[in-house]
Amino acid sequence: MKIGVLSIQGDFAEHLVMLKRLGVETVEVRLPNHLDRLDGLILPGGESTTIGKLSVDFGLLEPLRKFGETHAIWGTCAGAIFLSKDARRSQPLLGIMDITVERNAFGRQVDSFEADLDIPELGEGSPYHAIFIRAPIIASLQADARVIATLPDGRIVAARQGKLLATSFHPELTRDARFHQYFLSFAK
Ligand code: GLN
Repeated sequence: MKIGVLSIQGDFAEHLVMLKRLGVETVEVRLPNHLDRLDGLILPGGESTTIGKLSVDFGLLEPLRKFGETHAIWGTCAGAIFLSKDARRSQPLLGIMDITVERNAFGRQVDSFEADLDIPELGEGSPYHAIFIRAPIIASLQADARVIATLPDGRIVAARQGKLLATSFHPELTRDARFHQYFLSFAK
């Protein structure tokens, strides 16, 4: 199993640590040829506008879109925004997942928070402790995208469409590997 992490901005290092902990071979993706022979790709959290602009500069936009047609991609927070078809403003997006996101939906950095979520897709076990940092929400889903997790008030914070996964929160900032294991389970 070989998983790439888009490593041009944001908290890619934390994803790499988690993947290595799980015994996965990792690749830091900065150029199109780094996508060769990967089983899946993670788009980290950070600043989606910056990740988008740098992806354009590095000639990554089209190669990433093509990769997503046949491979698993998981976007966390800014990565989920980058993955979406619609972020309700003009910025470079991969535009491959049928979700509409609302950026900074909970307010500013100081309004960041943590919450325990019930996520049936992760199987039996304790609630999942999710970390939200100036997070987006998934405002709506289209086509066959489906809900994976909601806040207690019903707002959608994780979704899946085939091999595409989007989470508003940051599993890479916890010790809990369940979300990474979930991604690996369908990346192969
Ligand atoms: N607020 C950032 C954005 O809109 C995302 C924040 C994050 O990735 N933690 O891109």
